[in-house]
Amino acid sequence: MPAIKKMPQRKCVGCGVSKNKPDLIRVVRSPNNEISIDLKGKKSGRGAYICKNEDCLKKAVKGKKFDKNFDMKVPEDILENLLQQLRESDNPVSADTTGKNKQNLTVL
Ligand SMILES: [Zn+2]
Repeated sequence: MPAIKKMPQRKCVGCGVSKNKPDLIRVVRSPNNEISIDLKGKKSGRGAYICKNEDCLKKAVKGKKFDKNFDMKVPEDILENLLQQLRESDNPVSADTTGKNKQNLTVL
């Protein structure tokens, strides 16, 4: 008998890999077309998920994955906010002490 509890899986819009929901950040478009970051996963509306890493966000932005998913342009401040969230939750293994820490997404 499978003792492992099945986690709900969601697909990252950046890399396209399905992961456990807690490993992803949800971005949601509310019924009145407001896009926000849904850290608790409880807001209603259409959701898109992204891994908690910058690479996926960059891929998603570059490929306009969010825009396509939501059928509208995602405001830049949302993307920047998202980037901050990713950085906070990421706890990088390799700390950026080499002076190559970019502050902004190059694609923005
Ligand atoms: Zn991803």
